[in-house]
Amino acid sequence: MKPNVKEILSLVESLKDEDIDIIERAFNFAKKAHEGQLRKSGEPYFNHVFATAKNLAELGMKAKTISAGILHDVIEDTNTTEEELEKEFGPEIVSLVKGVTKLGTVRYKGIERKVENLRKFFVSMAEDLRVLTIKLADRLHNIETLKYVRPDKQKRIALETLEIYAPLADRLSMGRLKGRLEDAAFEYAYPKEYEEVKKLLNEKKDAKERYLIEVKNNLTGKIKESGMKNAIVDYRQKHLYSLWRKLQKYNMDIGKIYDIIALRVMVDNITDCYHVLGIIHGEWTPVPNRIKDYIAMPKANGYQSLHTTIFTGTGGIVEIQIRTHEMHRNAENGIAAHFIYKEKEIGKEISNKNLGWINQLKELNQNEEEHRPEKFLENIKLNFFKDRIFVFTPKGDVIDLPEDSSPIDFGYAIHTDIGNHIQGAKVNGKNAALGTKLRTHDIVEIQINKNTNPSSKWLDYAKTNLARREINAYLKEHSLLSKFLSFGKN
Ligand code: MN
Repeated sequence: MKPNVKEILSLVESLKDEDIDIIERAFNFAKKAHEGQLRKSGEPYFNHVFATAKNLAELGMKAKTISAGILHDVIEDTNTTEEELEKEFGPEIVSLVKGVTKLGTVRYKGIERKVENLRKFFVSMAEDLRVLTIKLADRLHNIETLKYVRPDKQKRIALETLEIYAPLADRLSMGRLKGRLEDAAFEYAYPKEYEEVKKLLNEKKDAKERYLIEVKNNLTGKIKESGMKNAIVDYRQKHLYSLWRKLQKYNMDIGKIYDIIALRVMVDNITDCYHVLGIIHGEWTPVPNRIKDYIAMPKANGYQSLHTTIFTGTGGIVEIQIRTHEMHRNAENGIAAHFIYKEKEIGKEISNKNLGWINQLKELNQNEEEHRPEKFLENIKLNFFKDRIFVFTPKGDVIDLPEDSSPIDFGYAIHTDIGNHIQGAKVNGKNAALGTKLRTHDIVEIQINKNTNPSSKWLDYAKTNLARREINAYLKEHSLLSKFLSFGKN
């Protein structure tokens, strides 16, 4: 099907004339710029940027972000220059497009230890959170067309999606996007497991669905009788990948998982939520210990809902989730839901402070580090990524350091043996003093010499606890040794 700009426009809420204008101009501009380029699938390249923009519109993003989505590859992949783009669309859109291009240069090496660094990198690099949403919408189309990519690349891209992009979407509480990313990647990352889970689900689904429809019809009637307005009773099937994750916790026993398909009730306000819970528990027997109040106590990413599980009375067990329409929007679209009214308020503000999830990101980081107490302490002292810089090894690995770190810190961050034998450093290809303050994006290369050892001078340059600790340990050991040696002389 040929891309039509109307498809995008129809997805945008409360369209203004200027919105239509900018989206249409971006559409035509990108179409022309990508003219003649083909994707690996043989489709016109423009279909990719169009799909990216459509994903953004579906996520609830507004005109400028959507336009930047259509234009996201023109600087990198066509003859268009930054100046041309700026002249045509202004600085805001150019900065979004440039942000996306910049994020694209990070290489993923699949090394466990670096994954969390990379996620932090993405968040901090995207000074404007709209850039992240474009990157995610871009990735979504790429992963959904992965079958055209060379098989040896498929697995890497799929794993990268599961380990970096999907958790990012989750952190931005973009539930729907996260689910789509995961399900598209699952098949390529873990093909055997994917087939297995699909089979398990198909075996169970029909019986589950029967019970569900029975409860749905009954509950819809009860809610109507109560006089409550605007209630929607609906159901959704659990995403395959998250089902798999859950199955792993339960020894692959699907009988223990009650939310394969769950009923969803959406109402106007919180009082109605508890009212619906009352109706449900009055009608059906709840399964003990399965009632969760995520309204009073939201999940780490901000998710809110009441969950309960009931015996249908006819042999089935059904999970029901109750939430307000607004909570539902937030759970599905997350960060994008915050852009609905004012795009002007911009991701910047949000990424700086306004959103609780940034803090939760911090907590999450701590949890993952708990098993490494020395890292944990170091990390809580630093104010997460606000005061962090992200520098590269010559191979493209990302090293995450506190602001004002030096090549000494960098060396120790890689390995104590490297730190202890630093002789010199190159920053962006040029020789640099050991006290040089590194900046985000710097590419740092350390020259080592087995005969060079830490000196007390290095303490002036070392900012991280790790480097300071190692240098002090070395100095202490060797001053004891020299005292001992000089003692011997006397
Ligand atoms: Mn792209």
